[in-house]
Amino acid sequence: MSAFKQESHKLLVIPGPIEVTDEVLYANAYPPVAHTSAEFIPVLGDSIRLTREVLYTKDAQIFLIAGSGTLGWDQTSANLVESGDNVLVLNSGYFGDSFTECLRAYGAKVDEIRADFGNAITQAQLEKALAAKKYKLVAFTHVDTSTAVLSDAKMIGETTRRVSPQTLVVLDGVCSVASEEIRMDAWGIDVVLSASQKGLGAPPGLCIVAASRKAITVFEKRVSPVAGYYASWKKWIPVMNAYEAGKPMYFATPPVNLVRAYRQSLFEITSGNVSLQERFALHRETKARITAAVKELGLREVPQDKSISANGMSAIYLPDGVGVADLVPRMAARGVIVTGGLHKDTKDKYFRIGHMGTTAVNKQRGDIDKVIAVLTEVVNEVRKQNA
Ligand SMILES: *Cc1c(COP(=O)(O)O)cnc(C)c1O
Repeated sequence: MSAFKQESHKLLVIPGPIEVTDEVLYANAYPPVAHTSAEFIPVLGDSIRLTREVLYTKDAQIFLIAGSGTLGWDQTSANLVESGDNVLVLNSGYFGDSFTECLRAYGAKVDEIRADFGNAITQAQLEKALAAKKYKLVAFTHVDTSTAVLSDAKMIGETTRRVSPQTLVVLDGVCSVASEEIRMDAWGIDVVLSASQKGLGAPPGLCIVAASRKAITVFEKRVSPVAGYYASWKKWIPVMNAYEAGKPMYFATPPVNLVRAYRQSLFEITSGNVSLQERFALHRETKARITAAVKELGLREVPQDKSISANGMSAIYLPDGVGVADLVPRMAARGVIVTGGLHKDTKDKYFRIGHMGTTAVNKQRGDIDKVIAVLTEVVNEVRKQNA
């Protein structure tokens, strides 16, 4: 490891991409190696094994494929859905809408339970829907990045397993993996899909999917051909298994630099200065600091209750008479990049802050101090002007 330090830059605290450590960025700058070389095989192999650790799963099939988180929706839909299959989507915001659209593109018959803005689906709603109809798959967004609403993954997994044991449970964890606890095996989660650039702390461009043995069995028993080529697990299972066993195999070129950066981040997450459990606790602590600062300013968060509020990001209503355009550029001018809302009806009424990964975990960086100081300064400045 050289004494590499990244260029000075504005603090990136949106809900992904996020700040990455010098070591992760340096790993990304390693000269490209042949994807079939002895040097690269353990890079991908380690990444597969360490991804399981982060998700508390012993034996899920891991897919690490070039693409963004969206490719996780396509993988789920192309491999686990056959035309006409019933799918239930627990929709807590913008990303639920998009997942539904993707599932329908592959022929799924989707029913949605839609939560009010800032709310999550309840256990009673889920039980009722599962009892009324047989679903092949239930999909939900763990942290909906448009609202910062955190769904109860344990409740959804356990409830589905009890009421409808055949149904697969799919968790969109693009904005939650490594910032919220996910116990795939214990909670009965069959698919976790994610991406490199949010809580996992690497640059964007790598799609991460974990599929339980149950999901793989459902995949193997499908009658119609897989509705995709690049996303087909038929192509990728042998490749992932080969690399894990220490052998190369080619289907499509993996992003060798990015996988190295991802592995570096996984090293930091699973065996760095803080344990995985401490990492989750540090995200909760960071959230508590943000919530306290928001309260101090007399502002309100979008999630309607603390119990459904994400720990890796926040969505905060703007003060009366203040728009996204009044706040975001002023914060940027002071070196802090936050972003506006993302929900079609209300996107100009609130803004979002990402506080995942090294920003939450490495207190010496002072990122959260800076976010709170700049937010306070800007809100007070705008209020004074409007007075
Ligand atoms: C960001 C995000 C996505 C989409 O991921 P991309 O990497 O932008 O394709 C999907 N779901 C959730 C919950 C997200 O936060």
